[in-house]
Amino acid sequence: MTERRAKGRLAITPSLSPRSLEGRGTPARAWQARVITLFPDAFPGVLGLSLTGKALQDGLWGLEAIDLRPFGIGKHRNVDDTPAGGGAGMVLRADVLGAAIETAMRGTPPERSDWPLVCLSPRGRPFTQARARDWSRGRGITMICGRFEGIDQRVIEHFGIEEVSLGDFVLTGGELAAQAMIDATVRLLPDVLGNAASVEEESFASGLLEHPQYTRPAVWEGREIPPVLLSGNHAEIARWRRAESERLTRERRPDLIADQSPR
Ligand code: SAH
Repeated sequence: MTERRAKGRLAITPSLSPRSLEGRGTPARAWQARVITLFPDAFPGVLGLSLTGKALQDGLWGLEAIDLRPFGIGKHRNVDDTPAGGGAGMVLRADVLGAAIETAMRGTPPERSDWPLVCLSPRGRPFTQARARDWSRGRGITMICGRFEGIDQRVIEHFGIEEVSLGDFVLTGGELAAQAMIDATVRLLPDVLGNAASVEEESFASGLLEHPQYTRPAVWEGREIPPVLLSGNHAEIARWRRAESERLTRERRPDLIADQSPR
């Protein structure tokens, strides 16, 4: 563990062991996320709140934010340089990232399906619920957060890194995308959500969007809860919910119905 702050400035001693944000007493087998980032202070971020935060504290999963800066070059620990061929912005250097990835991969299982190595990128394959489920069945993940114009292509090829996208838009850095994907994965781990049934019923679990939800008061601003939901007839309620799910999916996401291949 490196002393990270000296008088409010980041210390620049290379960290050979990742900064651990995991909860006390995390069992060795608990699912682990290792995130390489220029902004380790962004973690755990929202992952430290609510159910994911409680699970982190309870050691149901672990999180290590690995600061890229100490792997930088020279007195200023430079991590980026101008793009080969010219153009705007900066690119994260292959040698700097390479050293950070070597450190991050230490002690991880050799089989990538047990411990994927991914880079957040708008050019990547879109992240899906199916992907979250795959990841939650492994032992952990290593994620690389890009910044600026992204990362040197040679690193991606050398390590066989898989690029994954949060969606068709461009963020300033990979940190928000990493947190979103870790959140979606962690909530599928056993015991993280109190009510396991809610995972099976929610959007995408069945290839459909979830039906609308209501709670008290029974009448609000003149609007009533659909009477069937108050009928106590469970078969009718299940039928109504299924019909609403299908209607919403047809209206909003016909692609989910057309694409019945495993996602
Ligand atoms: N020039 C790049 C965008 C760089 S954005 C391009 O046009 O493809 C800077 C970093 O933010 C990226 O390296 C990536 O890590 C992250 N990022 C931006 N948008 C993202 C998205 N939709 N999904 C995942 N990561 C994203």
